[in-house]
Amino acid sequence: MINFQYARASDVGDAVRKLAADPEAKFIAGGTNLIDLMKKYVERPSRLIDISRLPLKAVEELPGGGLRIGALVPNSDLSYHPLIERRYPLLASAIQAGASQQLRNMASTGGNLLQRTRCAYFYDTATPCNKRAPGSGCAAREGLNRGHAILGTSEHCIATHPSDMCVALAALGATVHMTGPDGERAIPFADFHRLPGDTPERDTNLAAGEIITAVELPAKGFASHYSYLKIRDRLSYAFALVSVAAALELENGIIREARLALGGVAHKPWRDAEAEAALGGERAGEEAFARAADRLLRDARGFGHNDFKIDLARRAIIRTLAQAASGTPQSQSDKRIR
Ligand SMILES: Cc1cc2nc3c(=O)[nH]c(=O)nc-3n(C[C@H](O)[C@H](O)[C@H](O)COP(=O)(O)OP(=O)(O)OC[C@H]3O[C@@H](n4cnc5c(N)ncnc54)[C@H](O)[C@@H]3O)c2cc1C
Ligand code: SF4
Repeated sequence: MINFQYARASDVGDAVRKLAADPEAKFIAGGTNLIDLMKKYVERPSRLIDISRLPLKAVEELPGGGLRIGALVPNSDLSYHPLIERRYPLLASAIQAGASQQLRNMASTGGNLLQRTRCAYFYDTATPCNKRAPGSGCAAREGLNRGHAILGTSEHCIATHPSDMCVALAALGATVHMTGPDGERAIPFADFHRLPGDTPERDTNLAAGEIITAVELPAKGFASHYSYLKIRDRLSYAFALVSVAAALELENGIIREARLALGGVAHKPWRDAEAEAALGGERAGEEAFARAADRLLRDARGFGHNDFKIDLARRAIIRTLAQAASGTPQSQSDKRIR
């Protein structure tokens, strides 16, 4: 049993002040990840600061054509929001591919960004894990690593980021907004999550004491040519082995702009500017897609059990780009179950 205190934040400033007063405290939003981690003794906060009633639940249109999504918008509300369904269907699809309807009802936008890896050794306090206990080692490198990363790994950690929603946000080029003791700031989505390097205990560039307040989407939503494909062990309620978010802008069959982000393969949603740029000006078709896949995966390496992911990712990239090009996106199995 972990003893902890509970406090409810009255506004964003109060949340930041309460966290500053107790660095061992944690914000709690939907609680779908944090409570599990507490039950496993991975997280031991001295205090839970409940932010779930803060007024960060709106989806608002921005003057330049983009959207501002409050950090407490539940995943399910976001995926069924008319503006998201119509203008950013890639994001709606990715969210609906994650977890279960009940979890999506509780899970918040900000919490989804900050959910921790699903590496089994991270959850098992009897095993070495540099992310949970820096310097203790990485049990996954020589252990069961079927679900682990093939890109951007380090000798200290080969974990993946488990989110589906974040893969679409990466492809769309979102921005994360936060407030902390030093005021407000924003980080491009590509720079929000980190690679493990020699500090795998740090998942993101959110500074100590900061609260995520919103995620902003740019005006361009790629609503005509997109697809989110998630390959997993079961059709629902399972994390991605490999997932691909693809978005294209086409003109007479020629690719004007391409966005490609992968989930389940790295410590962060994986984008490769070189692979995307190489698609520009190409005729949309299997040859160009295969070249882009090979380019994106040029540095991929497996650790034994997860070697299969390299070929799986290659095939998933080609298939997802083909779905996007033909305007026939992958449909999620539980898309219409509310
Ligand atoms: C069984 C199961 C299956 C799942 N399957 C999937 C899946 O397939 N795909 C997928 O993407 N996800 C999946 N999830 C994960 C789920 O989406 C996340 O647990 C959820 O998005 C986290 O949101 P939350 O609001 O519940 O976060 P919480 O658990 O409340 O918080 C998570 C972390 O974020 C911090 N935090 C929360 N909000 C803020 C904020 N605004 N500012 C700063 N810090 C904040 C908390 O302090 C905590 O450290 C699954 C979860 C479970 C339990
Ligand atoms: S892969 Fe990362 S999270 Fe998993 S055991 Fe190794 S250090 Fe820990």
